[in-house]
Amino acid sequence: MKKLYHIEAYAKKRTCAASHYRELARLYGTPLLLVDCGVILRQYKSLCQALPGVELFYAIKTLPQRDVLETLKAAGAGFDVASCGEIDLAASCGITPDRCIHTHPVKKVADIEKGLDFGCNIFVVDNPFELEKFVPYRQEVRLLLRVGFRSRDAVVDLARKYGCQAEDVPQLLEQARTLGISVTGLSFHVGSQTISPDAHVDAVRESAEIMAKCRQNGLARLDMLDIGGGFPAAYSDDIPGIEEFCAPIRAELARLPGDVRLVAEPGRYIAAPAGTALASVIGKARRGDSIWYYVDDGVYGTYSGRIYDNATYPVEVPGRSGPLRRSVLAGPTCDSIDVIAEDLMLPELETGDIVAGHMMGAYTMATATEFNLFPKPRIVVVGRMEGAAAGECVSGAIAT
Ligand SMILES: *Cc1c(COP(=O)(O)O)cnc(C)c1O
Repeated sequence: MKKLYHIEAYAKKRTCAASHYRELARLYGTPLLLVDCGVILRQYKSLCQALPGVELFYAIKTLPQRDVLETLKAAGAGFDVASCGEIDLAASCGITPDRCIHTHPVKKVADIEKGLDFGCNIFVVDNPFELEKFVPYRQEVRLLLRVGFRSRDAVVDLARKYGCQAEDVPQLLEQARTLGISVTGLSFHVGSQTISPDAHVDAVRESAEIMAKCRQNGLARLDMLDIGGGFPAAYSDDIPGIEEFCAPIRAELARLPGDVRLVAEPGRYIAAPAGTALASVIGKARRGDSIWYYVDDGVYGTYSGRIYDNATYPVEVPGRSGPLRRSVLAGPTCDSIDVIAEDLMLPELETGDIVAGHMMGAYTMATATEFNLFPKPRIVVVGRMEGAAAGECVSGAIAT
């Protein structure tokens, strides 16, 4: 697990003044997750710009939050759903099924029926057993075959668990034809938080080759390519900007036939920078040569991404400065694994001080638990108001 780092410089990048964090913490109590829908919108638009001609379907699992979905819905986004719960959430936000694709490669029959009842008819499969599940619904569905192209540098490898081999595609298409099921295209997910676009570029090239071959030999007319997610969020300064990251992918996509529908399923890139976690110091202790600070959020809460997502977040102590001391940030539960960061250099903190974790919108709240019956952080939405500029803090924050 990579270390967390403390950056005073981050204060320049953040969207709110330190005093605003303290004000929100006082108003709503901690732990809090501030979700800035202005940032959600900014991220969505910049990815749209970097991938013109590619329809974006937000991966709901990343941050399944109503205001996030409503913001993206208003902006014209589509949605990637993978469970009955995600379908219910999308439906309750008034999202229509024509704007959804169901991307889970292995699911219960009940999940398929739920998707169809909702009205979504694009599903994903990656093996013969899953394909057979669609026989009773063959009149209604159009399938994507998920191929397991793998990134060498992704922080989270998603091709280990799902995706067929490129060589398996002809046989699966043959089987689908025999069963009378329509396969409309290919999909892949090279892994999350990929640092270089090489894996996407290679996967697009290989997909294009497969699609061309299938067209040539009349096996199937694949006219949709779903390039998945994986677009990197700027957790640190060495992450390429989205324009730079997407340029070679764009170039490779441009070589596909013009009638191929292109889609992507971004999650992290859209949600990560929109989240700021606020926790309060609830106690401190000197242990060895470190000062331990116990805060009211930890790896069983919003910082769960430290464990499940292998993520590193910039933390900041708004309003505190002074000589830096070797510090440990620990969560509130009784478990010793509940340590957010060790060897962190922080100015000395007092009980009641606020610790702000930045870049905490993706795979954080989504995986939080209520272990020890400490409640999950409350979500406070900022920047959603009509006319609010991207990233602007509006005083009328909404708690949900
Ligand atoms: C998780 C997931 C995504 C989102 O991936 P990011 O790396 O967060 O962009 C997209 N598609 C599928 C099928 C996923 O499982």
